[in-house]
Amino acid sequence: MEAAKTQLVTAEGTNAFNVHCPSCKSLILKKGVAQKVDHQTAVELPLIPTQSPTKHSLAPTYNWSVSDMMAFENIGFTKPVPGSNSSSTRYLSCADCDVGPVGYHPTPAEGAGKVYLVAADRVRYRVV
Ligand SMILES: [Zn+2]
Repeated sequence: MEAAKTQLVTAEGTNAFNVHCPSCKSLILKKGVAQKVDHQTAVELPLIPTQSPTKHSLAPTYNWSVSDMMAFENIGFTKPVPGSNSSSTRYLSCADCDVGPVGYHPTPAEGAGKVYLVAADRVRYRVV
């Protein structure tokens, strides 16, 4: 699995393949548009009911990060996460079948840009 994960990342640190919903065929991100970032925050993602707790953690190893919502091909947002530190942290879900969370959108820190994070181990990849 580790070798496979490495190959998901290009030399430039972007996603090497199109990123799809784990449940349906919805295209979330086209290849090359997101940057790999290590999972830094304490935000926990509830498990997707259809995914195995032994394979999927609350805190993914790394995320695909984009700074512009327009970078997504398809994405859905939940209502603000209850009980989160910030009232406006939102989970990301599939725009077509609603499965999720596949990532999250933390509230930007003061003066920092927006960031949208997709958990790399919760999505599927299309090898073209
Ligand atoms: Zn879907």
